[in-house]
Amino acid sequence: MTQTLSAETWVARAGAARPETRLFIDGRFRAAVSGETFDDVSPRDGSVLARVAAGDAQDVEMAVAAARRAFDDGRWRDLAPRARKRVLLRLADLVREHAEELALLETLDVGKPIGESLRADVGGAAGTIQWYAEAVDKSYDEIAPTGPEALALVTREPLGVVGAVVPWNYALLIASWKIAPALAMGNSVVLKPAEQSPLSALLLARLASEAGLPDGVLNVVPGMGETAGAALGRHPDVDKIAFTGSAAVSRLFLGYSAESNGKSVSIEAGGKSPQVVLADVADIAATASAVAWGIFYNAGQTCNAGSRLIVDESVKDELLDAVIKVAHHFRVGDPLDPATTMGAIVDGVQLDRVLGYIALGQREGAGVALGGARVLEQTGGYFVQPTVLDGVDNAMRVAQEEIFGPVLSTITFRGEDEGVRLANDTRYGLAASVWTRDVKTAHRVARRLRAGTVWVNTFDASDVMTPFGGFKDTGAGRDKSLHALDAYCALKTTWFDLS
Ligand code: NAD
Repeated sequence: MTQTLSAETWVARAGAARPETRLFIDGRFRAAVSGETFDDVSPRDGSVLARVAAGDAQDVEMAVAAARRAFDDGRWRDLAPRARKRVLLRLADLVREHAEELALLETLDVGKPIGESLRADVGGAAGTIQWYAEAVDKSYDEIAPTGPEALALVTREPLGVVGAVVPWNYALLIASWKIAPALAMGNSVVLKPAEQSPLSALLLARLASEAGLPDGVLNVVPGMGETAGAALGRHPDVDKIAFTGSAAVSRLFLGYSAESNGKSVSIEAGGKSPQVVLADVADIAATASAVAWGIFYNAGQTCNAGSRLIVDESVKDELLDAVIKVAHHFRVGDPLDPATTMGAIVDGVQLDRVLGYIALGQREGAGVALGGARVLEQTGGYFVQPTVLDGVDNAMRVAQEEIFGPVLSTITFRGEDEGVRLANDTRYGLAASVWTRDVKTAHRVARRLRAGTVWVNTFDASDVMTPFGGFKDTGAGRDKSLHALDAYCALKTTWFDLS
């Protein structure tokens, strides 16, 4: 994948882009039954990128029916695993071949730097699809250890129709975390992208069709959460919802399940991840870099963003100075410029929310050690400076609530026990880090931190081969790794009498 195109080239391509805006159901693109559309606004400059078909319950009905037909007649699930693998490998290749097109759509929709869209989002999605494709013909089922008078097979079967509901912050990547294992196991999928970022999913659907995925196996229905999302959540013929998004909406999906057919719901919700820096931290410069990138990457719009710096007071001043030095190097600007390292906030609502939290933090008694303001307003885009709040108390709302913007809250402690207590004093449990030079301390603290991922002397290291998800309000379920395959199948026992 190339990253060598100039800002001018990307801007020219953006001007010429004519993205697909219709729903993808049963192997073809079509307008919404209602004929309604919604404006897809680019956070880069506030312009309307596209008018996208607004799917509602009628469209969800058609998509689920198509997915059910595709599942029931076995056109996908009954293919030999190796044949499913070939289709998914072709899809991974096509994602790579269309990397620049996909990255452009992601950057225009979400406002993230184009280089990141290419590397992390498109590269990550292709890698995820490839990884699950390669797993398809390497997973075996079980024979139970009965006596000689019986043969009991324990086999994994696909669930049926999976509804995947995803957020905007890593639109394509998170969609791939759901779609790839679901398809690998033989399910059909109806994907509901976020209304802020529907375009990459629609291109992915076209590529899946080109790769040879049979009609009806993958359907994409953009639309509002309250209409399309709720209809999918309530649909009695959907067997599972795989959700990533806010904790509040995750609860709605549990309710939709209870109101309808009791479908299983896996949840990947938010985070308020602590970076715990102990007094014996080995390398202040490396820690500062990880702290800054941990919160300012993707303008803080990352579920596992390290939004709380929990630092022993003996090293706080030195570390905070170093964090601020790193933060000064972030270049906020047009996400289509490859030199930009921090792009836009996804929309005007989120912009107001981020600025509102910065103001709230000050009212709560925190100081602004860096940034704190909107910038580049003349572009029409939604940009905020890298912001560091100092003197934050962990009980403040800025320390407890997910801001989802480039805002770091600095909280001090004395000694390991207090650090761990503050780190765990949150409703979320997605990720955490510990910074120490002592290996025993590292193990001890890592065990005590209640989070789905704990990093030791690093932050945000990840791979498709390791599970991702969290404890507490962050939800139940894990994306990624071979364990995710289990989320898209059910166990069947087949008992033979051999007596
Ligand atoms: P969101 O909860 O507002 O939306 C997520 C999805 O749910 C979207 O597709 C949306 O259309 C849909 N939705 C919204 N309201 C709905 C309703 N009433 N009924 C049915 N569906 C509805 O989240 P967001 O703002 O798109 O994304 C940001 C959130 O996602 C943050 O909280 C972030 O932490 C979380 N997130 C979590 C992870 C993770 O893996 N844990 C990863 C990325 C993002």
